[in-house]
Amino acid sequence: MIIIDGSEGEGGGQIVRNACALSLITGEPFKITNIRGKRAKPGLMRQHVTAIEAACVISDSECVGLGVGSTELEFRPGKILPGDYHFAVGTAGSTSLVLQTILIPLALADGPSRLVLEGGTHNMMAPPFDFIERSFLPIINRMGPRVSARIVRHGFYPRGGGRIEVEIEPGPLRRIECLERGELLGTSGQAVFTGLPFEIADRMLSRARKDLAAWPDDAFSVRELPADQGPGVILMLEERFANVTEVVRGFGKIGVKAERVAKKLGGRMNGYLEASAFAGPYLADQLILPFALARGGVFTTVKPSQHMLTAIEIARQFTGQSLLLEPLADGGHLLSAGQGR
Ligand code: ATP
Repeated sequence: MIIIDGSEGEGGGQIVRNACALSLITGEPFKITNIRGKRAKPGLMRQHVTAIEAACVISDSECVGLGVGSTELEFRPGKILPGDYHFAVGTAGSTSLVLQTILIPLALADGPSRLVLEGGTHNMMAPPFDFIERSFLPIINRMGPRVSARIVRHGFYPRGGGRIEVEIEPGPLRRIECLERGELLGTSGQAVFTGLPFEIADRMLSRARKDLAAWPDDAFSVRELPADQGPGVILMLEERFANVTEVVRGFGKIGVKAERVAKKLGGRMNGYLEASAFAGPYLADQLILPFALARGGVFTTVKPSQHMLTAIEIARQFTGQSLLLEPLADGGHLLSAGQGR
């Protein structure tokens, strides 16, 4: 049994999700203590419980200690059972983080699956649906499995109520090289809003236009969603290269000026543009799992985040793979997944 201290490294929920996914795929049971030990309120939150429950349901696994507030868990994996599943994350918990837990196990299963996930689709501290669809899934598809996702309804905090649907055609994960972004094919800046004044979305866009002066005027747009999907306002910026797409998003919040949200986001997008690495910080931590399981492959990334370093440690524990990070002369880093046991 693999023993994990959940307060090590990043010390957050991603350790538990990655451990569940890796346990299902490798068949190794695990025990984790000090769950989310580095968070102000340690222990499992509702959305982590749903993610682990989903891992149990798709595999008939046994889990002792599962509940909101739990700081210790023992997980004994069963066989992955592909099929049609429906999971609702209470309140506005992130659907992407549930997907992050069960996608790769189902993508390696012995039959297709279809998922309906309900909850938040655009949450703080989680990949927005657009990132999953346009940044993460294209890489998984290049590796072998065929996964498509669509958003049926948006779900914002605190109301939730979003819905995404995912189709998974499994296939072995191949080793791939992700070194170059390729040619820049397009840019887009979209303010999406509902149940709030148009003016907030418009101010976000005006500021983004100013910070991304090289983007063409028609790259910017405003989209209003039906009122029952809100309230909420987000700004999403996207750069589409031939080999990779980067999506960053910022949320409108009470007490935070719309311009400030846009300025911060524009800065992040420009930072990615100035670098030459393939993966931005979020894509990088999410690629560790599939690259470790492919037992090979390389990608370049911007400065590694604590999330990425922690994902590497957990993946090493389950797969025995060497996952080597080397600094490059241009300020980027090279991740090489290698052979192990
Ligand atoms: P906690 O940190 O409260 O324990 P958690 O379970 O919500 O929380 P983390 O451990 O922080 O989460 O993991 C969040 C995951 O969401 C990471 O895989 C990270 O890459 C991803 N993520 C966060 N923000 C974004 C973003 N803006 N775009 C893409 N992915 C994101």
